This record gives sequence, C-alpha cells and structure tokens, in this order.
Amino acid sequence: MKFADLHLHTNFSDGTFAPEELAARGRLLGFAALALTDHDTVEGCARMAAACTAAGMEFIVGTELTAEHDDVEVHLLGYLLDTQNPKLLSEIARFQAVRQDRIRQMAARLNQLNVPLQVESVFALANCKSPGRPHVARALVQARLVKNLDEAFERFLKKNRPAWVPKARMSALEGIQLIHQAGGLAIMAHPGLNRTDEIIPALVEAGLDGLECFHTKHSTTTSEHYLEITDRYHLLVTGGSDCHGFSKNKPLIGTVKLPYEHVERLREAASRKTVAALKP
Ligand code: AMP
Ligand code: ZN
Ligand code: FE
Ligand code: FE
Repeated sequence: MKFADLHLHTNFSDGTFAPEELAARGRLLGFAALALTDHDTVEGCARMAAACTAAGMEFIVGTELTAEHDDVEVHLLGYLLDTQNPKLLSEIARFQAVRQDRIRQMAARLNQLNVPLQVESVFALANCKSPGRPHVARALVQARLVKNLDEAFERFLKKNRPAWVPKARMSALEGIQLIHQAGGLAIMAHPGLNRTDEIIPALVEAGLDGLECFHTKHSTTTSEHYLEITDRYHLLVTGGSDCHGFSKNKPLIGTVKLPYEHVERLREAASRKTVAALKP
C-alpha cells in the first residue's frame, strides 16, 4: 500500500525542518510521495524536489495561502502549480511583505508592553521570507521573555491577545484564480479546523478543486463528513499531517497517510486542466 503526506512545512516558512531533513523523515516513514505547502512561498520546492528524488520519493509542488470569504478564514492549498508563474510570484511576494510588516507591528506591541523583544532577533531566527507568529514565539522563548511557546501564544500572540495583529488575507475567490492561472489545483485546507462548511458551495462555484479530508486534527467522523461532501460535489480528496517540525510536540509527519490513489487523481485533474487550457 502506497501513501502520501500532502501538507508539510519547512523552514522556508514556519516549520523547523530543512527540506532535506523533512524528506529524510518521510523516507524513513515509508512515504511514496510528499508535497511541500509552505505559507505564502514556493521557494523550498526546488530543494525538496531534489531531496525527494534522491530518496526515491515522488514530490508534489505546493503552497498554502491564507484567504477569507464572508469574513471566514480559509487556508487554500495550491498543488502542481508553476513555481515560476509571474503573477503567482508577485502575489506571494506581496503577502510576504505583509507578513514581515506584521512581525514589526507585533514586536512594537510587545515593546509597548515592556517586553524587550528585538524585532531583528525574530527575523534572524526566522531566516525566511514568510515569517509568522511561531517565529515571534520562538524568539520570545530564546530571549527568555517567556517560558515556552504556549505562554507566548496565551499571553501575547493568540487572536485578541495584546500583541496580536490581524493578518491581511486575500479573498478566497482571488486565491483560487491565482492558483488556477498558475496551472495548479486549489484545495481547501483542514476544513474541520476552521469550520468553513457554509462557504464551500460558493468556493466550489468559483472553481475549488477539492477538500483536505484527512488532517492531523480531523477525527474519523470529521474526515468522513468531508469525504461525503467531496462525493456530493465531485471534488478531489487530499490529506496531510500539517507537520511544522519540532514545535510544541513531536513532529506530526507520519500521523496522516493518504492512500496514493488520491495523488494519481490529483495529477490526472491537473493534466486535464492543462489540456483544456491548450484548446483554442
Ligand atoms: P500566522 O500565520 O503568523 O498567523 O501563524 C499561524 C501559525 O501559528 C499556525 O500555523 C500555527 O502553527 C501557529 N499557532 C497558531 N496558534 C497557536 C497556538 N495557540 N499555539 C501554538 N501555535 C499556534
Ligand atoms: Zn504554519
Ligand atoms: Fe493552515
Ligand atoms: Fe499548514
């Protein structure tokens, strides 16, 4: 039985593993295929592809975009897209700038609260173009300003806590179009986490290609619920661990094993789109 993990983060966003470390773990766990879905970037894909190929695994290019529809936050996974697509690259660069600016705002809020975190220490630790709250939390721990990541989020960084700054999100409809014009497939990430059922029909209407039915934080019942929805709308099924490496707990890679047939369906759907796009 072949299986895949289609939701993984590296240190090109807020994961702790380098692409090579992640691929090595995937290999040890027996995966046939891995996808990389770093937040607002495709930069790690080249190294991850090389590492997967060297380890005898298949690699699927991906990214995870933060979007919204009707004020509901929704994460969009884009798969099998062209990582050189100019529009994709310019849009993700814009959101990377938003992320960096948000880090500055969160550091300024912390400083106002008499928490002397230096913003440069966050950027140095993140060492990537897509920094996020986990980097702020890790920098706070490193500077001994909090005891652990939980304290960082509970006291300062969680939504509506004093150092929290909302993140600008793209519209989900634009996100789907952005992924499609780059030749990719748009999948709603972890629908059971955001409880985004009510917006599914509108996104399907806008061309959403599938749902991430299997996710570390989905119970069996939740997965079954979303499988039923993919059946109803004829959508693709994906799944992944959403592993961020070493954060609070041990690495999540290996907790979700997506049957390989879904990877084949994903590839078939992507090639059908390419063929359709080539028709006059
Ligand atoms: P951001 O994209 O900057 O808003 O950060 C979101 C990331 O922070 C998510 O991918 C989570 O991994 C992490 N995160 C969010 N809330 C918490 C929390 N309460 N404790 C630990 N990590 C969290
Ligand atoms: Zn993340
Ligand atoms: Fe997500
Ligand atoms: Fe994720």
